[in-house]
Amino acid sequence: MTARIIDGKSIAAALRERVAAEVARLKGAHALTPGLAVVLVGKDPASEVYVRNKHKQTQAAGMASFEHVLPADVAQDELLALVARLNRDPAVHGILVQLPLPKSLDTETVIAAIDPAKDVDGLHPNNAGRLAAGLPALSPCTPLGCIVLTKSVHSSLEGMNAIVIGRSNLVGRPLVQLLLKENATVTIAHSRSRDLATLCARADLVYAAVGRPEMVRGSWIKRGATVIDVGINRLSGVDGNTRLVGDVAFDEALQVAGAITPVPGGVGQMTVACLLVNTLRAACAIHGLPPPAV
Ligand code: NAP
Repeated sequence: MTARIIDGKSIAAALRERVAAEVARLKGAHALTPGLAVVLVGKDPASEVYVRNKHKQTQAAGMASFEHVLPADVAQDELLALVARLNRDPAVHGILVQLPLPKSLDTETVIAAIDPAKDVDGLHPNNAGRLAAGLPALSPCTPLGCIVLTKSVHSSLEGMNAIVIGRSNLVGRPLVQLLLKENATVTIAHSRSRDLATLCARADLVYAAVGRPEMVRGSWIKRGATVIDVGINRLSGVDGNTRLVGDVAFDEALQVAGAITPVPGGVGQMTVACLLVNTLRAACAIHGLPPPAV
């Protein structure tokens, strides 16, 4: 058996189209243009690529895109003052401070300064707490994307055994909460977990968000399981070229899984699409409109 490959690229493109249609509807019916502000501090090359991509896709969806680039040595107070201005700006419905921030800045303080209603990264403690309490919340984009990809294979996740490997605030923890919301039975594993292979072998749904190239082996996967690989690891070959690999040994897992996401072309494609969804949701909520149908 060879697993079905979950095409994140086309699923993300379809989601972006639904977002664009809703944006057009909001503009026509309510004269409302959702706006996303992205703040980039410093010149991290990977972050610059992500920010450029967000800008392009936000505009393509018909939303307003505001970019703020600050030098790496910006004072914390100056960054907080910008966040406060964006909190007050009625044209801005979503605020994203690109992480990681330079070490001189306190990430937690900056995230806590974002208005939770505009926290489209879903990292503010209010949103994380609401999500954990099972209340409506803006949730982090990568885990939201993982759920959309899983649902492209299974219309219902109810009663399925899921394992989430990784417990970061950005991916693992919120993903666990979103899976609970879907009524899956969830095991959360991390660097201190014992015998990951045995834990994985029970899982109908495997989520790897570790940051270790090809750590999850094909022999760990239950036959027919759905595998969502969040990892993005850059490996250098002997020829000097680099290639991206996930946290799952793709070629091995392909032989046993029922469905699997590739790297690249899987989860990575969904993150920005879900950021657009969150911006749309935030704009509707701020204006007292019902949640968008995307
Ligand atoms: P992170 O903050 O470094 O967290 C990694 C998690 O993996 C931690 O919970 C850690 O456990 C766990 N871990 C580390 N070694 C382990 C091991 N040997 N066995 C089991 N668990 C282990 O990373 P992250 O931000 O969640 O990102 C994870 C991966 O996803 C990275 O490759 C990142 O590049 C990728 N990513 C992709 C996207 C996307 O859009 N596709 C978005 C975000 C992240 P402890 O908690 O015990 O330390």
